[in-house]
Amino acid sequence: MLRVQPSPACNLNCSYCYIPASVRRQTATMSMTVLETLLRRLVHEDLLEDRLTISWHGAEPLIVGRGWYEDACARIATTLGGKVEVAQVFQTNGVLIDAAWCEYFIRSGAQVGVSLDGSEAQNSARVNWAGRPAHHLTLRGIETLNAHAIPWALLAVVTRETMADPQAFIAFVRSTGCAVLGFKVEETNVAHESKLAGFADVERLYAAFVLALWQSFPADGPILVREFEDYRSARQLGNPVQVVPVTLIPFRNLTVAASGDFTIFAGELLFGDDDRFVFGNVMDGPLLDCLDTPRFRAMTAEMLAGARRCAANCEHYADCGSFFISQKYAETGSFDAEETLACRLEIKTMFKALDAI
Ligand code: SF4
Repeated sequence: MLRVQPSPACNLNCSYCYIPASVRRQTATMSMTVLETLLRRLVHEDLLEDRLTISWHGAEPLIVGRGWYEDACARIATTLGGKVEVAQVFQTNGVLIDAAWCEYFIRSGAQVGVSLDGSEAQNSARVNWAGRPAHHLTLRGIETLNAHAIPWALLAVVTRETMADPQAFIAFVRSTGCAVLGFKVEETNVAHESKLAGFADVERLYAAFVLALWQSFPADGPILVREFEDYRSARQLGNPVQVVPVTLIPFRNLTVAASGDFTIFAGELLFGDDDRFVFGNVMDGPLLDCLDTPRFRAMTAEMLAGARRCAANCEHYADCGSFFISQKYAETGSFDAEETLACRLEIKTMFKALDAI
């Protein structure tokens, strides 16, 4: 997965965003020189497989306009054409989606993911810079996607409000017309401390939330639930979730900022208060040079120590593989850590609830 941030700017100011507000207020746009240099390095350094998924990701990727993507696609075709099959994914807040964007999505074959957390009351964290709700703006974008018959995925952050009323969330999801649902808990990240952290009863409520969704969205239903597909794979196939997850393999999750700065494990680590986990800039030299640096050695040693703790102590290691590295760092200040709020809910609580059915 190559995650590219065409701009750090966002038209919303969601309270739980992992990108600090100071970064999201910047308006830079990735230059085509940076993009082309990145692609050439990936080719020359043999970092590509037969298929490449480029995720145009946050802040808000549509903010740079369609012209940027028309230009980017031409450069991608020139640089990678014939060598690699490229799939594009847009993860957007949906506010800017209009008919012209939909025509572009259809023309380019891009997949679309829209971030929205549920009913208007459940979506209160998603606001504009004046603090006003963005719910109706995203719904307008979703209606436009549906009017163009574009299958799209809903990505929801599960907050206290969502857990408190699973049926409202389920009814909302059904009403949107999405083809896929993904959900993740409101987690602690470098820019935000989760409100779930001190929430008594959170595990019981989350288990009830998960079970309500499981009953409402069966495997053969019209809405595919990403987390349940992962769970079914894990239980039916033994252990398809890699014991060494993508977050511990360098370059499996390459994330590149508009400036060309990049990080090679979890994308969230690009946006801390300092550049601690920036492994270099694509303009400065070969990407692989970062593997022979004190920064890389220190970070991997710490991450592997954390993974060893997980392997020794966690009964869900085979389901997870110490995946949650950015959350470990955000919660404890170190990768040499074990349980986090996110893994406690998304792995331990969910698997336990579903295993008991
Ligand atoms: S669920 Fe948590 S404690 Fe268990 S392996 Fe995953 S990260 Fe480690």
